[in-house]
Amino acid sequence: MSDFDTIIVGGGIAGASLGSEIAGKHRTLIIEAEEYCGYHSTGRSAAFYLESYGGPEVAKLSKASRPFLDKPPREFADHGFLRTRGDLHLTRDELPELPRSVETRVVERAELERFIPDIKPEWRRALLEPGCADIDVAALHGAFLRSYRKLGGTIATSSRLARARRVANAWIVDLVDGTSLRASILVNAAGAWADSVAIACGVAPLEVKPKRRTMVQLRVGKSGLKDLPLVDDADGTFYFKGEGDRTLWLSPHDEIESAPCDAAAEEIDVATAIDRFQAVVSWPVERVERSWAGLRSFAPDRLPIYGFAADEDCFFWCAGQGGFGIQTSPAAAKMGASLLLSEEPHSTIKSIDPSVFSPKRLTDRSLQEKRGGAG
Ligand SMILES: Cc1cc2nc3c(=O)[nH]c(=O)nc-3n(C[C@H](O)[C@H](O)[C@H](O)COP(=O)(O)OP(=O)(O)OC[C@H]3O[C@@H](n4cnc5c(N)ncnc54)[C@H](O)[C@@H]3O)c2cc1C
Repeated sequence: MSDFDTIIVGGGIAGASLGSEIAGKHRTLIIEAEEYCGYHSTGRSAAFYLESYGGPEVAKLSKASRPFLDKPPREFADHGFLRTRGDLHLTRDELPELPRSVETRVVERAELERFIPDIKPEWRRALLEPGCADIDVAALHGAFLRSYRKLGGTIATSSRLARARRVANAWIVDLVDGTSLRASILVNAAGAWADSVAIACGVAPLEVKPKRRTMVQLRVGKSGLKDLPLVDDADGTFYFKGEGDRTLWLSPHDEIESAPCDAAAEEIDVATAIDRFQAVVSWPVERVERSWAGLRSFAPDRLPIYGFAADEDCFFWCAGQGGFGIQTSPAAAKMGASLLLSEEPHSTIKSIDPSVFSPKRLTDRSLQEKRGGAG
């Protein structure tokens, strides 16, 4: 039986980034159920960095990740992963409230028309978030995996955890193919499967719920769109951004509860996306070039979960990254590593309180609710 200090379940951005932070100190194995890492949520994102997204606590992780994404250490990558395009939060009336730390400015109607030609008259103004950028997700995920391997980390693809149990201070991990592995620490970075993996390891689930989000690549009868900003509405019912000269990536901002699965776009959600898009601009819709969907997984309070389980001190949660798992990955991985290795936090995350993201906040709360209910 192979022995490891740490086995990470899941080779998406969460597992890969945490792996790259610990592999130099722990003998680490990533087990990934699919044939390649990044098949699920990580490979299906809208690929943007938007600091205001996810509220003030998540914004701290995003902000702390920005310098790394802009200019990573030379040994990690020889180029940055961001391309700035800005985001316009459109409104018909009130401007949205964003976390105070985020740089923004108001754009009135005349300027809005220059940003988005043919925008319909009811969109009166917008809040511009100039720092919004595209993320080269494949390059970032690839760089995390490369750095992980360089430090001695190993990866087993097509290797699905079936169950794990504690025997004499170690985890015995059984894979679906009958292989057994041993490790001191087990990391749950299984994305939409986070609760199922916890249950398979005899650990209490934390109500991490996968929700489907749809993306559409749309060709329209309008050119010059490549550098169009990300455009969303203050009520959170759509977003789109320029992709090619006449193509856009569009989402109806859907959030449909789903079992963990290989998610696919449904026709009704594609139609809803186009309908909402047509309420913004009068550009003729020519065709749907492709559509896809992925699962964004949320804890009940919509904050990510990093830390050892309350009921099992060698089971480490790295889950619930919702719609911000890519843009927060550098800082979140550093925070996760300092908790897992019991080390001082890296200077870039020193001001972030990790207890906000602890799994214990969820178990304490459900206990409190149960007590409240009983009383
Ligand atoms: C449509 C869409 C748009 C998004 N847009 C953005 C964006 O613009 N910016 C941003 O920052 N984030 C965005 N996100 C969110 C981001 O993609 C996720 O937060 C992130 O990818 C989560 O990473 P992960 O590693 O936790 O999950 P995943 O990438 O899903 O990885 C989990 C892995 O665990 C594996 N696994 C599960 N069970 C087992 C098992 N039993 N044994 C072994 N392996 C197992 C799975 O096969 C999977 O590969 C978006 C998501 C979606 C769906």
